[in-house]
Amino acid sequence: MSVHGEPSFRESVDLMFNRAVRHLDLSPGLEEKIRVCNSTYTVRFGVRLRGAIHTFTGYRSVHSEHMEPVKGGIRYALSVSQDEVEALAALMTYKCAIVEAPFGGSKGGLCIDPRQWDAHELEQITRRFAYELIKRDLINPSQNVPAPDMGTGEREMAWIADQYARMNTTDINARACVTGKPPHAGGIQGRVEATGRGVQYALREFFRHAEDKAKAGLSGGLEGKTAIVQGLGNVGYHAAKFLSEEDGVRIVAVIEHDGGVVSESGLDIEDLRQWITQNRGVRGYPRATFVENGASLLEAPCDILIPAAMEGVIHRGNAANVKAPLIVEAANGPVTFGGDEILRRKGVVIIPDMYANAGGVTVSYFEWVKNLSHIRFGRMQRRQEEARHELLVQELERLSADKGLGWTLSPGFKERYLRGAGELELVRSGLDDTMRGAYNAMREVWHGRNDVEDLRVAAYIVAISRVAQTYQSKGL
Ligand code: GLU
Repeated sequence: MSVHGEPSFRESVDLMFNRAVRHLDLSPGLEEKIRVCNSTYTVRFGVRLRGAIHTFTGYRSVHSEHMEPVKGGIRYALSVSQDEVEALAALMTYKCAIVEAPFGGSKGGLCIDPRQWDAHELEQITRRFAYELIKRDLINPSQNVPAPDMGTGEREMAWIADQYARMNTTDINARACVTGKPPHAGGIQGRVEATGRGVQYALREFFRHAEDKAKAGLSGGLEGKTAIVQGLGNVGYHAAKFLSEEDGVRIVAVIEHDGGVVSESGLDIEDLRQWITQNRGVRGYPRATFVENGASLLEAPCDILIPAAMEGVIHRGNAANVKAPLIVEAANGPVTFGGDEILRRKGVVIIPDMYANAGGVTVSYFEWVKNLSHIRFGRMQRRQEEARHELLVQELERLSADKGLGWTLSPGFKERYLRGAGELELVRSGLDDTMRGAYNAMREVWHGRNDVEDLRVAAYIVAISRVAQTYQSKGL
């Protein structure tokens, strides 16, 4: 049991699973096989730092190996525990199934406050942790492929990739052992912002369906809608930035670890982010009103609430006070099982985590494929595509001149039309397509079956059915 007398994070995920699996006709044995976490490896290792040996505890949990490799991030935080990594590993299984990334689910974590250590120390700790996982094939291009999560990023992934390459000097696919690497070290364009982009694409797709908007009592497009974002880390920052800069969403409040800031006219996310980086928090930000109790802003009025920080922030204790009619779970598990029940009764629509934040693993999948194919996306076709477009434009211009028609192309059309797709454009297109497809798979179940009340159950139904099919075709 955790706070507010609620189940733990892992129990909460299991309860959500149980709610959904009732709608499926699976044998109790298979149901149990899918629900349980296959294995969790705990490692305690020492690193000599600052003249003393420091012992760290880390985990790598594998939830389901119905497809391999298994996939999921590595988190650096003091809150990391076996319960947490197991819950997150389970969510990875369902997340990969929803977006059809051909992976099982896994997650790792290290109990550490990364801000307590400098870059060189973190490198030593990361390499040592990676060493322990690599030698047990818990990091391996064909078996288990980590990625960034809370407290880790490109830098840590580059260290892990290098550590793997050092320990596996003849593995030609070594780079595919981890995703979220920097582009110059085998990464892919668009991975850093992928989860935030995915949140944006998820919302755009939601707003394309009048019936779905109506369930939340909303209408119209994203333009002019108000949003509150909790957590301006990698996911929250990119989601807020893209939604405000590209879709006209007004971010009226941002909640951070040291409080919240409110601005009815909308916050300038880039400016606020800079302030947070320089001042380690939102306190003192001059272009908004500071609110000491940041969490109270989860209950402030807005159209869209975007929890993008951590699990369990909307629970039995505050769910009844939430005013937003639509919640997009950019973080993993931000709404507890108890909180979810209350919100559902109130008619709040929740776009569930396993779908809403799946943009990261989707682009990780593209990166992994790129590493295995040893070629950048677009390298073969880009110029050929441009040449074909050029041919068409020249023909139009010739026709116009020959017949004296005086046609002129709209300003900027030629440049935009002629440009062939590079890696970033292809990644975005693949991500957009994935988010649209996955949403529609969920909504078909949501609207197609009378007994399915909400998108979360629909998401679980889609994911569990896909995992079950894979197991069944293996003869299990
Ligand atoms: N840590 C991210 C997540 O929770 C990304 C996982 C990945 O790319 O494998 O989805």
